[in-house]
Amino acid sequence: MSLHNVIAIDGPTGSGKSTVSKLVAPLVGLRYLDTGAMYRAIGFAAYEKGVALDDTDGLVALVASVSIEFADGEIIVNGVKATQLIREEKISQAASKVATNPEVREYLVERQRLWVQKNGGGVLDGRDIASVVCPDAIVKVFLTADVEERAKRRAVEQSSDHSETRSELVQRDDRDSQRKASPLVAVEGATIIDTTHLSIDQVVEQVVELYTQAASQL
Ligand code: C5P
Repeated sequence: MSLHNVIAIDGPTGSGKSTVSKLVAPLVGLRYLDTGAMYRAIGFAAYEKGVALDDTDGLVALVASVSIEFADGEIIVNGVKATQLIREEKISQAASKVATNPEVREYLVERQRLWVQKNGGGVLDGRDIASVVCPDAIVKVFLTADVEERAKRRAVEQSSDHSETRSELVQRDDRDSQRKASPLVAVEGATIIDTTHLSIDQVVEQVVELYTQAASQL
């Protein structure tokens, strides 16, 4: 049951997943899990420990020993408060590189499922929530938006240059969509919402409506 009571929100970088998920969760009485932050935590820990991002054995040893805690809106990685640090562009790229490693994914997927069971469901955002983590989720949403709009949103968020942000975003999206292990896909049955010309409130409203309908049929 708890693995069903899930709103799965997948999509590429800058499509509005985390903003929408954070707002939807309290409206439907569920907790929110930012799965991207977990991949970022592994990328960050690899950097800190000097593990090469393509060193499979090193990454396997790293995930077996890493400590990731979420507390009061902060993320603590191996005892270090890393909430802001994991948002740096070098860690975004590192996260998407470690995310190509099937062992890293297996470990994080297991932790994400345990979190869902412990919390009686949840709103999860990521790249593989509907395809792998919770394929029985009662709501599956794939958010997307025009690449220029996504780059604009991220450049504003990070106070960075638009064209540089755009090329980094395209690089990460390509890696996420083309990897062998759990690539970013819109699963069959997912509701695809193009957020390019929608306000955040309009997207939140649609997702809450999908959940209300689905939950009433449980
Ligand atoms: O969502 P966010 O941009 O924070 O995710 C960082 C990276 O983590 C993504 O580019 C992707 O490579 C990886 N990721 C993933 N599967 C998820 C969440 C994130 O592969 N469920």
